Amino acid sequence: MSTLAFLGLGAMGDPMAAHLATHARAHGHRVLVWNRTHAKAGAHARAHGTQAATLTEVAAADVIFTCLPTSAEVDEVMSQMRPHLRPGATWVDCTSGHPDAATRQAAELAALGVTFLDAPVSGGTVGAQQGRLTVMVGGDAAALEVVRPHLAFAGKVVHVGGTGAGFAVKAVNNALLGVTLWATGEGLAVLGRAGVNLGAALDVINASSGRSNASENLIPQRVLTREFPATFALGLLAKDAGIAVDLTQGVQGSAPVLAQVAALLRAAQHVVGAHEDHTAALKLIEAMNAKEIR
Ligand code: NDP
Repeated sequence: MSTLAFLGLGAMGDPMAAHLATHARAHGHRVLVWNRTHAKAGAHARAHGTQAATLTEVAAADVIFTCLPTSAEVDEVMSQMRPHLRPGATWVDCTSGHPDAATRQAAELAALGVTFLDAPVSGGTVGAQQGRLTVMVGGDAAALEVVRPHLAFAGKVVHVGGTGAGFAVKAVNNALLGVTLWATGEGLAVLGRAGVNLGAALDVINASSGRSNASENLIPQRVLTREFPATFALGLLAKDAGIAVDLTQGVQGSAPVLAQVAALLRAAQHVVGAHEDHTAALKLIEAMNAKEIR
């Protein structure tokens, strides 16, 4: 029997830990859960048969999963857990974190005999609820094989390289989400000002080469409806695009479009609100064009 621990029962972590619990029941493992707001861990335990635990208790697990907002919060819990970690354990960080933090955290944990894998996820809250997330893993390939059976929330698992590569791929993926979301918003605002029906415009774009997840799903379902359901915070998307900019600097690369969109998303975060859904970034475009995208 292995002890699995999940820290961070947010929009993503809560359903991910639920899938871990189903897997654990079938294979004779136990799942400990920890959340900063402890009531959420208690509710998870009652709903899914997990055990709410302290940071000291989760630190003694064989496999530790984290899904927190940024690498800074992972640092916070890691520093409190460090004295209680067990050699031979694996830390699987599903946060959309920073590649530089992964390098540092992996080295700190390695000194304690603990292996770190950066394993951010994509697929959104629906993918998390369905247990169909894509997991992009950086770190030791053999360590991934040890924990792969426990990735019960995954539909697809890809080893993308050494430590930090998972976080790097996630940051670039989300920067691309930002680019398509922002650019499609600009295009639609302009078409709206030209008097074009935006439903008809999207019908054409989605049958043509301008289509993307933003045009096919996000904008029709969240922007045109004016619902903007807050499943993925604008502040988190701006953070991810910022990591892609840091990555560009770190490798002395040149990615001006990604940098521009990162700056625009940061502006939208300040103007529209960090806790709004990421699609609400388009409200800044609406203000810039004095035209609602509807
Ligand atoms: P949420 O804001 O829903 O949840 C954040 C979690 O982190 C909560 O459990 C919260 O605890 C906890 N937390 C916040 N601050 C601290 C802290 N200082 N110390 C300890 N715990 C803390 O975020 P998501 O679940 O949406 O996102 C989690 C990660 O997954 C992020 O890196 C995000 O970029 C990524 N992601 C999100 C997706 C989405 O669609 N939402 C999709 C793919 C990746 P508390 O309950 O106490 O607030």
